[in-house]
Amino acid sequence: MEKPEIIMAPGPTPVPPQVYLAQGSPLVYHRGPGYGAVLREVTDNLKTILRTSNDLLIFASSGTGGLESAVANLFSPGDRVVVPVAGYFGERFAKIARAFHLDVRVIDYEWGQAVRAGDVSTALDEAPAKAVLMQQSETSTGVIHDVEAVGEVTRDRGVLLVADVVSSLGAVPLDSDGWGVDVAVGGSQKAFSATPGLAFVSVSDAAWAASKTATNPRFYFDWAAYKASYELKSPENPFTPAISLMLGLQVALRLHMEEGPPEVLSRHRILSEATKEGVRALGLDLFGEHPERAWAVTAVRAPEGVDGDELVAKVRADHRIILAPGQGPLKGKVFRIGHLGYYDMFDIIRCLAALELTLEEMGYPVKRGAAVAAAEGVFASR
Ligand SMILES: *Cc1c(COP(=O)(O)O)cnc(C)c1O
Repeated sequence: MEKPEIIMAPGPTPVPPQVYLAQGSPLVYHRGPGYGAVLREVTDNLKTILRTSNDLLIFASSGTGGLESAVANLFSPGDRVVVPVAGYFGERFAKIARAFHLDVRVIDYEWGQAVRAGDVSTALDEAPAKAVLMQQSETSTGVIHDVEAVGEVTRDRGVLLVADVVSSLGAVPLDSDGWGVDVAVGGSQKAFSATPGLAFVSVSDAAWAASKTATNPRFYFDWAAYKASYELKSPENPFTPAISLMLGLQVALRLHMEEGPPEVLSRHRILSEATKEGVRALGLDLFGEHPERAWAVTAVRAPEGVDGDELVAKVRADHRIILAPGQGPLKGKVFRIGHLGYYDMFDIIRCLAALELTLEEMGYPVKRGAAVAAAEGVFASR
């Protein structure tokens, strides 16, 4: 008998049965009060979790569509933006900005480093820019960038701050309004444990003002169209929404609110700590700066003599657990464990046990049970 695979990669993440059931229920017609109530509830819950009173717009697209919408709505060709790049998703944001002919000033980091607010400040001193585009969680390295510190720099200068929070929202603390985030971009398939296919953006007053004069082309992702439809007596989408996905996200967010946003965050902190203690107990090294705040993803250096890609493939083939390999320059050198979303302590213990068995088979000396015991130690002390 084969049990289903469990995904422990940073997205998409496991989906609770209640969410699947909701997605399988009859369509709620998208013009009228039924869908209006769904859209309003989802919007309100997302705003609560983002800690924002700004507008929030939802699109049928993957997270990248939300990022593209920010570039399309905020800027005109030739506008200068500062983009710190410390991994794969930093590169993606820079590529989107270039595709729209922005003047992109990249701040280059080695993968695994955290963005420093001082570097952003220096880049803005060199030449003024309209915005800073960054990630909160650089999923390719697991590193959490300090959006709050960058927000102090941008707010002082009246520069827009656009934060990709796709893989951090719901796993790591975020205070959008308190930190001066003008645009936060999220997605359905990471810490919310809904299925892929929905992106959302929050839009501050300053971001709306910028969008009024921005000349970049946009149609499907035209923020103004989504705002106008949302403000109808019964909120709507300008185009046919992904109704079934919205029914799923509605339930996923209800589960989130029932557990309580602070409780969800502390669950992620504990799962992250247990994972990291387990990995360390095997004598492996964590990858990336500030692992103590990497509550979404644990990145691990593959030990001497073990290829990270082979390890990931073998864990999947032998134990039906999907880990994530290293990307770009980290290919083969790093592997990643996602623990954002619908996970509890036994998911972590199962994953660590699989890691022990697999490493042993690959010739790496393992003290059986060491990782599991270390993780249990973290859980027991909570
Ligand atoms: C997953 C992710 C995205 C979105 O990717 P899609 O495949 O387009 O959903 C964007 N940014 C980060 C940091 C991510 O982890």
